[in-house]
Formats: sequence, structure tokens, C-alpha cells
Amino acid sequence: MNHNETLFLRAQKSIPGGVNSPVRAFKAVGGTPAFIHKAQGAYLWDADGQRYVDYIGSWGPMILGHGHPEVLAAVSQAMQQGLSFGAPTEREIELAEEIIKLVPSMDMVRLVNSGTEASMSAIRLARGFTGRNKIIKFEGCYHGHADSLLVKAGSGLATFGHATSAGVPQEVVQDTVVLEFNNVAQLQEAFAQFGTEVACVIMEPIAGNMNFVRASVPFMQAARELSQRAGALLIIDEVMTGFRVALGGAQSLYAQQIPGFAPDLTVLGKVIGGGMPLAAFGGPKHIMEQLAPLGPVYQAGTLSGNPVATACGLTTLRLIQEPGFHAALGQRTQSLMRGLHQAATQAGLPFSVDSEGGLFGFFLLPELPSNYSQVMQTKGALFNQLFHGLLQRGVYLAPALYEAGFVSAAHTQEDIEHTIAAATEVFAEMVAGL
Ligand SMILES: *Cc1c(COP(=O)(O)O)cnc(C)c1O
Repeated sequence: MNHNETLFLRAQKSIPGGVNSPVRAFKAVGGTPAFIHKAQGAYLWDADGQRYVDYIGSWGPMILGHGHPEVLAAVSQAMQQGLSFGAPTEREIELAEEIIKLVPSMDMVRLVNSGTEASMSAIRLARGFTGRNKIIKFEGCYHGHADSLLVKAGSGLATFGHATSAGVPQEVVQDTVVLEFNNVAQLQEAFAQFGTEVACVIMEPIAGNMNFVRASVPFMQAARELSQRAGALLIIDEVMTGFRVALGGAQSLYAQQIPGFAPDLTVLGKVIGGGMPLAAFGGPKHIMEQLAPLGPVYQAGTLSGNPVATACGLTTLRLIQEPGFHAALGQRTQSLMRGLHQAATQAGLPFSVDSEGGLFGFFLLPELPSNYSQVMQTKGALFNQLFHGLLQRGVYLAPALYEAGFVSAAHTQEDIEHTIAAATEVFAEMVAGL
């Protein structure tokens, strides 16, 4: 038995499934997860000393790569001054000001500890602000694991969703309506039926939790206009896309195509913490002032705005503002996608790719999917073969076909070429097995 196997057996005795977040267990792809010992730049090392090129980046936060010296210095300096105070600090203002500067749809921001907490709080705020209960979400979009969001679609528009987790009472999800992503007609129909009862529409602008599926421009425009007309709020969940697909997030890309586009509320996480627990939600002053202590919507947190986490996030946000940062990241990501696409196509495999900034998706499908059921047409066994073939060759992709991929500023052209060469070998094996 190698060290990973020994650790996985041991972990399963004291931690359910051996992991503290389900996707880490490799359940979708089978096999033993790599237990990570350390990371630097674009690489991870596991308990057996095997090195991997890391395309997960802690599921998004590590946009600068692991162990950036300036980030580590800021964290270490903050740490010396105290780990947590439970009282306000100047650095929280600096981080809030930085976020507001980069995302102009936000006048005010509240800092929290996780994306789950941020989405949950944004929904509470939307319900408190509008005085309405119903929320609309889309199949395949993930907004964390709050009760009201763990829902799959019912059989028709009028039927409300079903909980996707045990322990979530039907009463808690009865006000959550789940619709198909990129389906404008269905969204119109929903607003026509019960628009005046809707508190908010929440969506990922580029859905990164069903691999990589962009909201079409007409779909985004419809979500914006229909919610506005009905007096509902539009919440854009940029936990994954924020500061990663562009400095101003995905909303800045849609604003280039839809004149005057802005969400009411934005949810942020992942990159804003730079690898430490930190997330946020924000929007216009008149909505944000409904939050306690100013308004009636309660929201709080013992460790919110933690001084070490804010030092990490603030330094990360300052470093990614270097001119040309996202253009260079985008080019490197595109060269990876181009290389994989070419190698797969030459091998005769169906393959489609998309990327924006440092976020990518590829599918073992001839055309890019536009919703969850199309994503799920991927042959799981084929993806698993690709995943394990790459893992053996020192390339670490997300261990499930419905997850996006992440490139950091630390990935070099040699890392990309190594990945494409490894994939070329695996594609040949896959074709031989078909
Ligand atoms: C990761 C993610 C979340 C949840 O964030 P956590 O910090 O894991 O709670 C919410 N929304 C989106 C879009 C995410 O990618």
C-alpha cells in the first residue's frame, strides 16, 4: 500500500468518507484520492512525493499559484499582529474599498467566511428587501449547500422543486423554483405565472459547477429585464468567476454586450480570499442598508472579516491588478484548450472546449452543451479514463466531469505542453479501448 492508500483508510475511520468536502473523495472517478502534502507555484505534491500540475487551484482561489511570496509575507505579518479580534479593523475597509472599486455594481459589501454563507445571506437579504418568498434558480448552478438551494427541478413549472439532500424539509424548498439554464421561454413563462411573488433570481453567469457553461447573452438579458420588471432582484453568483474570468468578473463581460447591465446583488468568494476562508456579498446602498445593524435583515459571523484572511485576499486582489494579468492568463488557458482540442480531434474523439480568463471547460462531446442535461450526456467512463490517465502522468484535473478547470499565473508554457503531451498519450489509449 502506498501512503495515499494508507491515509485514505485511516481518514475513513475518523472523517465521514475520509474527506471534509464530498468531491475530494474521488467517488465519481473511482480510486484513491491523492493526499496533498505541499504545494508551490503550479504544482502539488502528494504523500508519496508524486508531483502534479494542479488544474484545480483549491477550486479557484489560487489564481496566483501556490505560495506566492508577497501573499505569504502579508499573511505572516498579519498573523503576528493577531489571529482574530471580533472587532472591526482598518484592513476590512481596505478590502471592501478594493472590491467596490473593481466591481462597480456594488456600493457596499459584507464580508463572510464561505461562498455558501454569502449566497444564503444574499437570498435572505433579497427576501427581506422585497418582502417576497419565492426564489428562482437554475439546474446545474451551485450556490453552496444552504437548505433552500439544495433543490432539483419538479416535473413542471407549477410544481416546486424536490430537495436533493436528506435532511432538507419540503417546507424549506417549496419556495425554490428550479428552471433550465439558458431557457429564455421557460423563464418568461415563470415570470408570467408568478413573477410578483419572486424575491430573486440567482444564477452563475458562467456555470462552473456543471463544467463550463456560459449563460447566453439573450438569457442573461432576459433574467435582468424580467426580474427588474417584476420587482425581483437579480443575484449573480460570481464565487467562481469573480476576479478569475476578468478583473471585473463575468458581469463586466456581459456589460460589454448588454448596455447598462448590472446585477442587483453579487456574491463573491474563492479568489477574494486568495486561499483563506473569505467570501462576500454586496450591491447598491439602499439594499445593503437593510442588513443588521442598520436594517431588519439579520446576518453575522464570529470570524467574518478575519484579519489574516483579509490580508491574504487584499494582497491577492492587488497583485491581479497588474496590467495585462488577465490577458496573459487567458492566453495561457486558451493555449491549453487549443492543444487538448487538437490532440483529441486528431485521435478521433469528440471534444469541445471553452474558456474565459483562468477558467476552462472541456467536454467529451462534439458540441458545447448549453444546459445541465446536455452536460450529463458525457460518457462518464470515458472521462474517468482520461482523469486517471492524466493523474498517473502527473496532471491533476478536477475528479468529476461536471467540474470546471483552473489555470493560475504560475502555470508556464512548459506545464501546458507537458499536459498536452500527457493527454495525447491518454487519448490514444482511450481510442484503442473504444
Ligand atoms: C464554490 C461555490 C460556492 C460555494 O462556496 P463555498 O466557499 O464552497 O461555500 C457557491 N457558488 C459558486 C458559484 C461556487 O463555485
